[in-house]
Amino acid sequence: MTSPAGPLRALSLPPRLNPLTSRHVAVIGSGAAGLVAARELGREGHSVVVFERGDQVGGTWVYTPKVESDPLGLDPRRAVVHSSLYDSLRTNLPREVMGFRDFPFVAREEDKNRDSRRFPGHSEVLEYLKEFAKEFGVEKLVRFETEVVYVGLVKSSDNFNKWKVRSKKRSGDEVGEIFDAIVVCNGHYSQPRIAQIPGIETWPGKQIHSHNFRVPEPFRDQVVILIGSAASAVDISRDIAGVAKQVHVASRSIAIEAIGKQPGYDNMWLHPMIKSAHEDGSVVFHDGSVIMADVILHCTGYKYHFPFLETDGTVSVDDNRVGPLYKHVFPPSLAPWLSFVGLPWKVIPFPLCELQSKWIASLLSERIMLPSEEEMTEDVKMFYSTLEVAGTPKRYTHQMPGLRQFDYDDWLAIQCGCSVSEDWRIKMYDSASKRKRTHPETYRDQWDDEDLILQAHHDFTKYFP
Ligand code: FAD
Repeated sequence: MTSPAGPLRALSLPPRLNPLTSRHVAVIGSGAAGLVAARELGREGHSVVVFERGDQVGGTWVYTPKVESDPLGLDPRRAVVHSSLYDSLRTNLPREVMGFRDFPFVAREEDKNRDSRRFPGHSEVLEYLKEFAKEFGVEKLVRFETEVVYVGLVKSSDNFNKWKVRSKKRSGDEVGEIFDAIVVCNGHYSQPRIAQIPGIETWPGKQIHSHNFRVPEPFRDQVVILIGSAASAVDISRDIAGVAKQVHVASRSIAIEAIGKQPGYDNMWLHPMIKSAHEDGSVVFHDGSVIMADVILHCTGYKYHFPFLETDGTVSVDDNRVGPLYKHVFPPSLAPWLSFVGLPWKVIPFPLCELQSKWIASLLSERIMLPSEEEMTEDVKMFYSTLEVAGTPKRYTHQMPGLRQFDYDDWLAIQCGCSVSEDWRIKMYDSASKRKRTHPETYRDQWDDEDLILQAHHDFTKYFP
């Protein structure tokens, strides 16, 4: 079997039966990835400190109406707002699929304050993550309002590498500490990527990135060009169409027959990509059409960003490839002492982070072993060359489209001796993804996979008897 990470089962190793070794581990971030990493590390007997620069757990799911001083999110001096959620956001995955494997995301219908919809709003996800943190005692491991500002290697006397972590409290106090291992869980939806548009320097309109979009009201009666076609672009274009004069969606990946006015809307059009912008306020698309616009809204994704990490060039971000990383987690020469949780995208993040975390925790305790550094390096090289041969740009290194993520998840599960992905989860993800594409307006409220929901709930009785 092959996957975006190269041949999968070839390197699986049998579990080792040594007594477990406990390590002192720093986890950076208390979003979904950091919470589940802390839980798995704790379960495996490690001592864990979770650093969180915010004042509560949940990461991305902590909605704030606040936006940044630079609407494009590019000014390095701006005060960064972490979350990119907009007010109307509902999940784009059904809750059965989205939840952690052993802590299902089930609806709390008995509690009238909870959102029991199958694709709930963002505050329901935050409640779920808080419940998770409480249930597994993770919250007490978190140092809130404490930002990691530096992580670097130190040589210790026995020549065994350790990590120095410098963190800064909101009060300004800085502390330096030593850890055996670092697990980076800082999220990757806070540093905007924007589209390059010839002539944009002289174009007089306003530009904003979706990171700083919260509500449609500021776009009332405006002519808006929105760039992008991913889940948030689809949601935001519809949100804005409710108040804007016109919405023009420009997308690189658009079928020619889809270009033009959108069915069901009298003020929304689809276009190919923007070709150029001009001083007179006009924007020209690749099919030659021209629009006089007030705003360009970039729904063009995000960049990986690790401003605190100092590895002397061992790990770098090149065109949004974080590398070199073995299976998207470990730099071979620093494994298992430095790891990254949650880098893959176009995936179901929570269960994927859960499996990555189990793998990291079991490797640090030496319950299981990694291949040699040379073998891991070879595996990474093979993976990169597969991408190159397929013509896949570096920036898609961590993308796992379609059902590929399940090969990856199952490989991780096998490493850790866990069960592979549930059949219902794969089928439900597949059917929800198809409905999202074909019925973007209604997929959150109408579905035809009741049989899979029943199977999921039957499975969940293991955890909620
Ligand atoms: P985050 O949730 O971003 O958490 C990172 C944490 O690290 C934050 O709390 C941050 O404060 C902290 N941090 C960062 N730097 C530092 C530092 N230097 N020191 C200390 N702390 C630090 N996923 C789904 O499953 N379903 C969905 O429907 C869905 N919709 C989404 C919609 C949008 C608009 C976005 C942006 C994402 C969506 N996602 C969705 C993906 C979502 O990002 C993941 O579900 C998940 O929340 C990622 O968790 P994380 O822990 O990796 O990152």
